[in-house]
Amino acid sequence: MKKRIIVIEDEPSILDNILYSLESDGFEVCGCPTGGEGEDEFNLNGADLIVMDVGLPDTSGFELCPRIRQSSDVPVIFLTARAEEVDRIVGLEMGADDYMVKPFSPRELSARVRAVLRRYRPEDANGTEASRGSIPETSGLPFQIDEERVKVTYFGQVLSLSSTEFRLLRILCRHPGRVYSRSQLMDIAWSEPDAAMERTVDAHIKSLRGKMREVREEVDAIETHRGMGYALKENW
Ligand code: CA
Repeated sequence: MKKRIIVIEDEPSILDNILYSLESDGFEVCGCPTGGEGEDEFNLNGADLIVMDVGLPDTSGFELCPRIRQSSDVPVIFLTARAEEVDRIVGLEMGADDYMVKPFSPRELSARVRAVLRRYRPEDANGTEASRGSIPETSGLPFQIDEERVKVTYFGQVLSLSSTEFRLLRILCRHPGRVYSRSQLMDIAWSEPDAAMERTVDAHIKSLRGKMREVREEVDAIETHRGMGYALKENW
């Protein structure tokens, strides 16, 4: 089943390039030159992901995205010509899944689309994944995660975690060494990401670290990747 991407971009040459690149990557694409057409297209036929220019002739991505988000949590990748818009884009105000600053290569956009679709699993947010059982990736790690009791054991000692800390640690344990950005962690760990701020992630991570240091003072279990995010220590 081909994934369907709606691309809302008013600049014809950019739109054509994006559509061509996504199509040759195996996506079903639909290009819309205005926000209104994009919104209609989404409401009518849906999409697995929307690529949206911020500056549109009839509206702005900043107005359009929240409107779409009222009825759907479809992933959105923003395009912007202005680097100074990035803060607003990645902020929770928009809840963008990713963004690209123009000029960019359509191939890079295509790669981002694939990455966002890979990590977009709505079940992560509402915990149904937990009911499916254990996380095999914790083998080889000093963690034992008990999904049913919402309990984590670290070097044999139970960590007393808040539900948010539990979800954060569970995500990090899935792929040791993989760096998650704050907005990714928020998207995955909070069922209602809009209620949180990125700094909240920092606060929860800090608290998590404190609890793990009480068990093993010398171990830095969660690494900070400056300007990027956090990852669980890869080699134990
Ligand atoms: Ca534009």
